[in-house]
Amino acid sequence: EESGVNLKKSVSTTCPYCGVGCGIRVQVSDDDEIVAVEDDPDNRSSEGMLCVKGRFGTSFVHHPDRLTTPLIKENGEFREASWDEALDLIADKLVNYRDDNFGTLCSAKASNEDGYIQQKFARLIMQTNNIDHCTRLCHSPSVEAMLASLGSGATSNSYTDYENAGCLFVIGCDPTSNHPVAASRMRRAVVEHGAKLIVVNPRRIDMCDYADLWLRPYPGTDVALLNGIAKVVLDEGLVDEKFVANRTEGFEEWERVIHNYRPERVEEITGVSANDLRRAARMYARPPIPDKVPFAAASPTSVSPLPQGQGTGVRGYAGSCLIWGMGITQHTNGTPNAHGLLNLALVTGQLGFPGSGVSPLRGQNNVQGCGDAGCIPDNMPGYQGYRPEAMDKFEEAWGGQPLPGIRGLVITQIVQSIGEDFGVKAMYITGENPLLSEPDLNEAAEKIADVVLPATSFAEKDGTFTNSERRVQRIRKAVEPRGQSRPDWEIICDLGRRMCRKLGLPLEDQFTYRHPSEIFDEMARLTPIMSGISYDRLDKEGGIQWPCPTPDHPGTPYLYADSFPRGPRAMFLGYEQGPLSDERPNRRYPLILNTGRILYHWHGGTITRRVPGLLARSPELEVSINPADGEKFGITDGQEIRVTSRRGELTGKALYTDRMRAGEIFIPFVKLSESAANFLTNSAFDPDTMIPEYKVCAVRVESAE
Ligand code: SF4
Repeated sequence: EESGVNLKKSVSTTCPYCGVGCGIRVQVSDDDEIVAVEDDPDNRSSEGMLCVKGRFGTSFVHHPDRLTTPLIKENGEFREASWDEALDLIADKLVNYRDDNFGTLCSAKASNEDGYIQQKFARLIMQTNNIDHCTRLCHSPSVEAMLASLGSGATSNSYTDYENAGCLFVIGCDPTSNHPVAASRMRRAVVEHGAKLIVVNPRRIDMCDYADLWLRPYPGTDVALLNGIAKVVLDEGLVDEKFVANRTEGFEEWERVIHNYRPERVEEITGVSANDLRRAARMYARPPIPDKVPFAAASPTSVSPLPQGQGTGVRGYAGSCLIWGMGITQHTNGTPNAHGLLNLALVTGQLGFPGSGVSPLRGQNNVQGCGDAGCIPDNMPGYQGYRPEAMDKFEEAWGGQPLPGIRGLVITQIVQSIGEDFGVKAMYITGENPLLSEPDLNEAAEKIADVVLPATSFAEKDGTFTNSERRVQRIRKAVEPRGQSRPDWEIICDLGRRMCRKLGLPLEDQFTYRHPSEIFDEMARLTPIMSGISYDRLDKEGGIQWPCPTPDHPGTPYLYADSFPRGPRAMFLGYEQGPLSDERPNRRYPLILNTGRILYHWHGGTITRRVPGLLARSPELEVSINPADGEKFGITDGQEIRVTSRRGELTGKALYTDRMRAGEIFIPFVKLSESAANFLTNSAFDPDTMIPEYKVCAVRVESAE
């Protein structure tokens, strides 16, 4: 109003960027434009905090590049089309590609309701479980390992537990850039509450400034590192004997693996000194009770504050939180790495109480919800697998048609199968740009769309997102859809009804909803972990953390207080350190490339490149390189350089920094020019989850002039 803009309304909704899930209040003008974003002090996940993307990053909603009509490709060119024409064309084609010929990629940017409808369409109409989303490319090893060891793939605790902990063990992530509001809580834990901070990262990230201990292992050596820390726990009597005896299994087999990881041997493999391994083990296993425990929960379902020392510290020492990101998962050793972390939490009993827990930081705003809604090839919604009782329930609810009951292909397998005789021949992709997120881009770039449909953004629809701490939160329509754009759930329902008519399936009512709340109600009814949540409750109470099985259940701030979803006991699963990575540096490609994200851009940059304020902060691709390597390869600071791997090349500006160790360079995977980091990366994958090895490949650098 001060700037002369007439405000029409303020709408409480949820930030569309990262998995922290901060509450925002969108200010809308008389002209139906978002003119400002304010924080939401009532939001329990963010408590009034926002980062630069949440506060200043929503102008993409009005960007002229937004698609406003459906497009159909003819003779290699896209032309505008009506919804009827585009959806009829898709339906005409897709009736020929049911079963294994079809695959779908859901979007962790879209809502729970969008994802639920997309997987319902794939399973019920297309009769396939070839359904996946971007978790494949970020946390599939975390989910796989947590399902095997604990029985749930979700973060165990809440953000408030970072502030209750006596020690934060932050490994393979850069929260300041990627989860800034979570990073604020971590800093507050250290600076204001006296928690210890261990950072494990080959790069000197900002969080190192606050760390009591920074471990800098060689890339690909995390299994040895974590086994080495566990060995110290065993040798120095830091085991939580009661927890191991009463609540775990597989300890003896695991111990036999760990036996070989003496700190001195691990020092040779990882480059981390034996002394630092010992310090890390002691700090994590026996953290001091922090000065304050401001958010301690009285029980897994209550968040009323407790006096200091209760909740945490009942054993004479505090809890520790294990927090990790894709530096753990995007390796050919991704799943063994994640198990290394879980084993550490189990042997020290750092699970099941406030201030403890295992915390994979989820990237996208709704990556948790996308998995919860069933957008994964190996589970019906709510992680119910394909168990007969689950299949019976869904078949009955979805019109009595049989559903496919065997695991489908993951996205990397779908992409690899394209072009093969029995491979996937048609795909429906929502809100993703696999050309920027797949490794070895030159390979994936050949696959391009025949029809493109305009979907609404987060600000133009109602729905829910579920954040990293399992909190289901409302998104609310703030502005009218741009052009002819429609919510994804509505588009897929329309397509589903057309397919039903063409196939003669009596299932049109399965794709007829008046409002997304009806979709949520159906999902909640069929999904025990969310059965107690409704729009009505979310509107009255704010976000609710699942499991929430009944309407009078308050939600669950932390898991595993008494048992695990897999049963009364969690499972140790030990791994030996395997080959460090698929590709190693050599004379021709002497440097190791590490990729990741930066504060001012979101992933591939499709959105943030269209937010002028963010682009102005970070307009060009920077290649972080140690000055010693710069001199060695004849490159000066700020010079335009070419980076080449066995698969491709890109150009960027050299950024001299001692944050990188000599021999390693870092490139964000945002696309700020013709090329992107994923033109270089290796498509070798973790065999358990098919996640590509984005974090290590061999490259060379040279002047681009
Ligand atoms: Fe949005 Fe994440 Fe920033 Fe919060 S921390 S404002 S959710 S990008």
